[in-house]
This record gives sequence, structure tokens and C-alpha cells, in this order.
Amino acid sequence: NVFNEEAQRARLPKPIFKALQKTIKQGAQLTDPAIAEAVASAMKDWAIEHGATHYTHLFQPMTGLTAEKHDSFINVGPEGLLMEFSGKMLIKGEPDASSFPSGGLRSTFEARGYTAWDPTSPAFLRETDNGATLCIPTAFCSWSGEALDKKTPLLRSADALAKQALRLVHALGDTGVRWVFPTLGCEQEYFLIDRHFQSLRPDLVASGRTLLGARPPKGQELEDHYFGAISPRVLAFMQDVERELWKLGVPAKTRHNEVAPGQYELAPIFERTTVAVDHNMLTMEVLKDTALKHGFVCLLHEKPFGGVNGSGKHNNWSVATDRGDNLLDPGRNPARNLRFMTVLACIVRAVDLHADLLRTTIAHAGNDHRLGANEAPPAIISIYLGDHLDKIVQAWSDGAGSSEQKGGTTSMSLGTAALPSVPRDATDRNRTSPFAFTGNKFEFRAVGSSQSPATPNIVLNTIAAESFGWFADELAKRKKGGGAADVEAAAASLIQETLRKHRRIIFNGNGYSQEWQQEAERRGLPNLRNAVDAMARYATEKNVALFEAHGVHTRSEVEARSHIMYEGYCKTIAVEAHSLLGIASTAVLPAAMRHQERVAASVSAASAAGVDAAPQQEMLRTLAHRIHALIASIEELREASDKGDHHHGAPRDHALFMRDHVAASVARVREACDALEIVVADDLWPLPKYREMLFIH
Ligand code: ADP
Ligand code: MG
Repeated sequence: NVFNEEAQRARLPKPIFKALQKTIKQGAQLTDPAIAEAVASAMKDWAIEHGATHYTHLFQPMTGLTAEKHDSFINVGPEGLLMEFSGKMLIKGEPDASSFPSGGLRSTFEARGYTAWDPTSPAFLRETDNGATLCIPTAFCSWSGEALDKKTPLLRSADALAKQALRLVHALGDTGVRWVFPTLGCEQEYFLIDRHFQSLRPDLVASGRTLLGARPPKGQELEDHYFGAISPRVLAFMQDVERELWKLGVPAKTRHNEVAPGQYELAPIFERTTVAVDHNMLTMEVLKDTALKHGFVCLLHEKPFGGVNGSGKHNNWSVATDRGDNLLDPGRNPARNLRFMTVLACIVRAVDLHADLLRTTIAHAGNDHRLGANEAPPAIISIYLGDHLDKIVQAWSDGAGSSEQKGGTTSMSLGTAALPSVPRDATDRNRTSPFAFTGNKFEFRAVGSSQSPATPNIVLNTIAAESFGWFADELAKRKKGGGAADVEAAAASLIQETLRKHRRIIFNGNGYSQEWQQEAERRGLPNLRNAVDAMARYATEKNVALFEAHGVHTRSEVEARSHIMYEGYCKTIAVEAHSLLGIASTAVLPAAMRHQERVAASVSAASAAGVDAAPQQEMLRTLAHRIHALIASIEELREASDKGDHHHGAPRDHALFMRDHVAASVARVREACDALEIVVADDLWPLPKYREMLFIH
């Protein structure tokens, strides 16, 4: 169901096909309008033959979701109805997009946003029960060309990376490389629960996570779920998901049970980042849609259940060349290693210089429940290299001209002429690191399961581009002659200096430990403990300059995004507050009082019958006490939430208020509810419990 290279070759005139492929594979600009006309016509015929009646420009507004507005191919001609789709309709759409957040980029009198065809991500058909829709991936921008979405800056960042990485590999003597692009494989974690349970949990419906719920008697202590046998009902669901994804061109590859009960993972084969991001967005949709068909609900929230492992999205990132090389592949050929060490040093530098910016890309309310909660990477950004690579880096930065590697099978010489061959080292795993080298790629593990992978990759591409460019500049300054030996010598000394200067960002120990918090502070690494703290570091002058220098964002785009981050945070907390207020005061409190009535009646009856009712009286007192605590916490939340709703301060102040008062009150109400859940009679408890939601499949 994809209008892919094969379909294009079969249906497009040869010159058009060639021009389109050049754009897709090498980023060449599409200048001739005739190309769009021809592509539109072929695309329409293909789509209609496959049952499509409508088309839509798919775009990724700054909400982090996907948006679509459908139009049919129908038009009225002189002879009646006809099916029409022109180059203009392919290239540009004008959705009425005034209610998408723009962070002030688009004033209301210019409410129009435009969608622009992204030829690099193939169009596809989404089949539903009653027909098919042609989906055209697009970018979304304002009339003046400001990006209103996540795709435009992602494409720009890939261009920036390509430009600087090319300069770098050329400077290192690899002049045969013509194009470089970032690659991405997103491991997607999710929960499945029976659909019936969700209908009975207004918190799940409103906010995607349970806002209350006592821990189940059997949690993940037994660790029997991870990689366990997949239940037949879940497997049937997964098979359906995969079939649908393959039809859409998404290379779904791996499936397994995750650590928590009811938790699973899907991983695709990696692709070019710009396509992989679209595919991850599509994957999340397919997971949700398919779950419903199987009587499940798919929960993508970072922390649907308190006290149970949360979900992430491991963002496997690397850089590839048009010749099929992976720049992060250490390889076995020593001659290649100068390039590998250069790229590695550049990334170490990039992450050290921009750890704060990287942290902002994973900053949202949902991820706060997960990061640093002893189950997910800590909020401190650091790099894990694994023992073997770490030794090499140490040796380099210590200035060892050559050293013998003991213990392993490799012996290495670190002189510039014979560089070490670093064997692939994918088995050495440290799950506590937010940014780990895993053999031939970096795995950014702190990304949240529900978020669009666009922002983390925009930043990864941009900071890598900056370091690659810097290295290429330095190299040009330092190499004395033009010979290969001069370049090698200059690169080697530059790698050494870079690693020495930035190695504080490398940490191979336990990221969950208390000692690391102190050690990181000693090293001067930022520890931005929660989303709101992190957001403050996004639109700094340093970052604006970085984005502008690489043409990824304008200043106003950065400021708009900062605004939207705060806004999103405030809205999320407000929804949670309203939802929990409703549940606590209209479901939990009445249930607790009914239970209290029963216990009180039982105490009276026992006393009247002349038996000792003291222990029951004690129960009653405890219960009354917990009910009072709940009432007090509800009042507190109501007040805080009211103030939050009417907050007119700056976005940052508002977010701080929501964090310190509203979110804090939400947590207290939860505590009061959970204390009641474990004492109120089961037949009176109005909500499905964790033990039911997590274990009944
Ligand atoms: P893990 O052991 O981390 O669970 P998986 O095999 O489940 O590993 O997932 C690894 C992911 O990394 C896959 O999506 C895979 O396609 C992706 N990956 C592998 N090589 C690269 C690369 N060069 N660039 C980007 N992603 C890659
Ligand atoms: Mg992983």
C-alpha cells in the first residue's frame, strides 16, 4: 500500500522517476512543476485502483501528534462528477489549522498554515473498513515559511548534518562519499489492557494514565514477564499490527514481552531518520487502532501505572553514507578507525556541550514519572561507551601513543598509522545510561514512549552537525601540508584533545546510584530533575545561536517551541487535576463513606449484641481518618487547580505553579485514594484495580 520506488518506476515517465529519486536519495531540490503534475497523476491512478476515494496531507503539528484533513478526489466537471488530483493539490494544502498551537508564530488574522509535500517520505494508503485514503506526508508551515511542525526542522536538521558530515568525511580523505544521512530505529514500548477496563477508568480515558491505584499484590518482582511466552490473544494482536505495518511500508521486526506485566515492545529495522519518524508516528497509530479491534486498549503513556515499570522509546541513532557505510561502525579495518574515532569524539563533544539541550527534548509531564525513577535512565545526560571502547578513549585522551589491551583478544596500537580495530561490542549493556553506545549506534534511551521522536532527532542531528563542522574547520586549520599523513596527524591530535576536554560526559557506572548524582555534580554536568527545570534551558542564547547557525530553527521558532512546551505541560497537569478531582470526589469518596457506614453499622450491631467491638472501632477510626485525609486533599487540589486554571502569568511561571502546587496536590490525592483502596470492601470499590487491569488478558 505504499507508492514506493517500485510503484513509481512502474508508473512514472523515466525522466520524472529519475528526478524524483534524486530528490529522495540525495536531497536534490524539485524545481520543475511538471514533475509534481506527473507524480500527482500517477499517484491518483494508483490510489484509485487500490480503492481510495480521498486523499489527505498528513502533518505533524507541534502537539507531537499527527493531523489529517481528508478531501475526496471528486470534482464537478462540465459532464458531471470526475476524479481529480493535480500537482498543485499534491504540493500544497491549506488546512484550517488555526487551532493548532503555534506558540505565537501565527497571528489569528493570518491563521492559515500550509502543508507542503515531502517527497522524501513515500505516500501510502490507509485502509479502513469502508475504503482507503491516500496519505501524503507533508511539512506544515506559516505563510512566511516558519515551521509550525516537527517535520520541517527535522528535514532541515538532516540537511545540516549531511552538509557538515560530508565536509568532515571529505576532509578525512573519503572523497567518494556523496551523501550522508542520519538513521533511526525506534524501539517502541507499550501496555495493553482489556478495553472494558478502560471504559471504567475515566483517568485513563482523559489522561492516558491511572491517576490512582494501589500496587498489585504481584508486581514485576518475579520478573517472569520479560521475554516470556507471548499470550495467544496478544500474539494475534501483534501479528495484525505487523501485517498492517508491513502494508504501510514500516519494517516492523522485533516483538517481545517487556519487564512489566501487560507491557510489550515492537522494534522496526532502522531507516533514514526522516522516514523513520513518520513510521514511528504511524506505528503508534496502528498499535492503538489494532488494539481496539482485539478488544484491547494500547497505552502509550510513559507511566500508565504507578509503581510498575514505565515505557520508553529507545532512539537508536547513527549516521550513514550513500555508499552504505555506517559512520559509527568501528569496523575491523584499521584504516577506517580514524574516521570512527573522529565521529565518536565529535559526538562526545556534542553531547557534553549540549547535554542541557538534549535533556529538553525529552522534557514533558509524562516522562517526569519515569526518568530517574530507578527504572529508567536518570535525568542527568551522560554517555555510556562500554568497557572496551572506554579503555580506548581513555588511552587516547591520556595521550598513549600505543597501548596493549590486556584481557581481551584484541591488541591495539594507538599510533596514527595503525589504529585499533574495535570489535563490535553490542553485548556490553548498561540499562541505566540515557545515551549508550551499542556497537554501531547510539541509543538515546530517555525518550518517552508517547512522544514524537522528531524533537530528539532534530537536536541529535543539529549538535552532531555542529561538532562535525567544528572538527572539519579545525582540521583545515591544523593540517600542515595536504598529504594524507598530515591530515591523519592533525586528526589524531584533535581527537585526543577533544576526548580529553569532554570526557567528563562519559560515565560507565550505575546511573541509578546516589553516588552518580554527586559525581555528576562534581563534574559540572547539568542535572535537570524535572520537565519544567529542563524547559528553561531550551530557548537559551546558546541554543538559539546553534539552531540559527545550522538553519534548523529561527529565533522565533525556538521561542514558540519553548512556549508550547510550557503550555503542553500546563494543559497535561490541568487535565489530570480535573480528572482526578472528579474521580476522587464522585467515586472514591462516596465508596469510602458507604464502606464507613457498613463498618459503623457493624460496630453498633456488635455492641448492641454485647460483644467486644473495640478492634472494629479501631478500624472505623482508621477509616474515618483516611476519609478525612482524602477530603482535605481534594479541597487542596480543588483550590490549586482553580488557581492554575486562572493563572495569567508568563508560561514559565504558570508551569512552575502547575508543578509545585497542582501536580503536587494530584500526588497527595492519589496517596489518600490508594490508602483507602486497600481497606474499602472490594464490592464497593468503583474502579478496576491494578491486579485486574495488569493481569487479566
Ligand atoms: P535492544 O537490544 O536495544 O532491545 P533491538 O535489536 O531491539 O535492540 O533494537 C535495536 C534497534 O536499533 C533496531 O530498531 C535496529 O534497527 C536499530 N539499529 C540498528 N542499527 C542501527 C543504525 N545503524 N542506526 C540506527 N538504528 C539502528
Ligand atoms: Mg534498546
